[in-house]
Amino acid sequence: MSTFKAPKGTYDLLPPNSASYLAVREAIAAPLRNSGYGYIETPGFENVELFARGVGESTDIVTKEMYAFETKGGDRLALRPEGTASVLRAALEANLHKGGNLPVKLWYSGSYYRYERPQKGRYRHFSQVGAEAIGAEDPALDAELIILADQAYRSLGLRDFRILLNSLGDKTCRPVYRAALQEFLRGLELDEDTRRRIDINPLRVLDDKRESVQEQLIGAPMLRDYLCEECKAYHEQVRELLTAAGVAFEDDPKLVRGLDYYTRTTFEFVHDGLGSQSAVGGGGRYDGLSEMIGGPELPSVGWALGVDRTVLALEAEGITLDIPAATAVYAVPLGEEARRVLFGTVTELRRAGVATDFAYGGKGLKNAMKSANRSGARLALVAGERDLGEGVVQVKDLESGEQTPVAVDAVVEEVRRRLG
Ligand code: AMP
Repeated sequence: MSTFKAPKGTYDLLPPNSASYLAVREAIAAPLRNSGYGYIETPGFENVELFARGVGESTDIVTKEMYAFETKGGDRLALRPEGTASVLRAALEANLHKGGNLPVKLWYSGSYYRYERPQKGRYRHFSQVGAEAIGAEDPALDAELIILADQAYRSLGLRDFRILLNSLGDKTCRPVYRAALQEFLRGLELDEDTRRRIDINPLRVLDDKRESVQEQLIGAPMLRDYLCEECKAYHEQVRELLTAAGVAFEDDPKLVRGLDYYTRTTFEFVHDGLGSQSAVGGGGRYDGLSEMIGGPELPSVGWALGVDRTVLALEAEGITLDIPAATAVYAVPLGEEARRVLFGTVTELRRAGVATDFAYGGKGLKNAMKSANRSGARLALVAGERDLGEGVVQVKDLESGEQTPVAVDAVVEEVRRRLG
């Protein structure tokens, strides 16, 4: 062990488990790539103001959890706590919305940082794959994103997840509801922090996990009773499209989520095997965000799915992904001449696309065969002086143990034949 450890709230992805993370990212990205979403990558840090304005000055993410710092040059930056604000910023900066081809559909994958109290499923560095559809107001787009996330989870074999759905209204109906809720909340017995929240972001109080708060919330005005006709009709269409696609969801009139920018459709994917950190992904419509960060009116919708929690969900359901062995062929040279010859064969196999590894470091036969077995390879190539004297390499089937001599210059072809 070195003197250093991974910082608190972080962990390293190491082989062989790291392969599941790659597979999860790939499984989430596949339906997006297949549905017109282009890949976008933005910096790991942004101007801190972008998140303050975009995510919301009053959110926990911005007030408590952001890694904000000043550079030596005096720039005020923050490690990105989420993806949407950056992606929208990048799309606006590059004028992607002006190509006359709305919505701009983008997907991303990367690291995010929040200074949270670490626990299982909640880290200070975590990984998300996300999607954003910028510049169109169409219930089919909201439905598309939910359907694609559902498809991604199902392709991984996940079954014990639920989709919670709500509408947060728009700039016409939400303020009316907000006022009604504030009036109701002001009549409750709440601590000072929560009272402050009533002024800044009353909807967030509905999300309070404490029993003592939840009890008092019985009888609180519900947003769904305040939705304007447009929002109601929009939400009904999203629901119908999901139902028609065979995607089950639960109406959750209390779902608000921790970011300020959401309007209308809001959803969360929760997994029932994860305990308290049950949200594996979430998203929604953010029709006002573009204007909040100085752009034009661009109604948009998106989601982010957490890779770490998706991996935990797989574990909770006892699912092992079918990940092909990293190595198909393992070469074991015995002696200098064999090393030279087999290294050449290994290079040739790799160039032919066969996953091949080599016993480095002059290991003895026994150790080298152990490594061959551990690598998961199906075939070992073994050659000593006597084999080379006869112009052959032993091709050993590591499952059956059966071994056959094959002429040196026919090895690549024979291996490819055997691996099919
Ligand atoms: P949010 O942006 O908070 O809606 O997060 C979207 C998804 O990212 C969540 O559903 C989680 O799967 C994941 N996520 C958010 N915060 C964390 C964290 N601190 N540690 C691990 N995963 C997280």
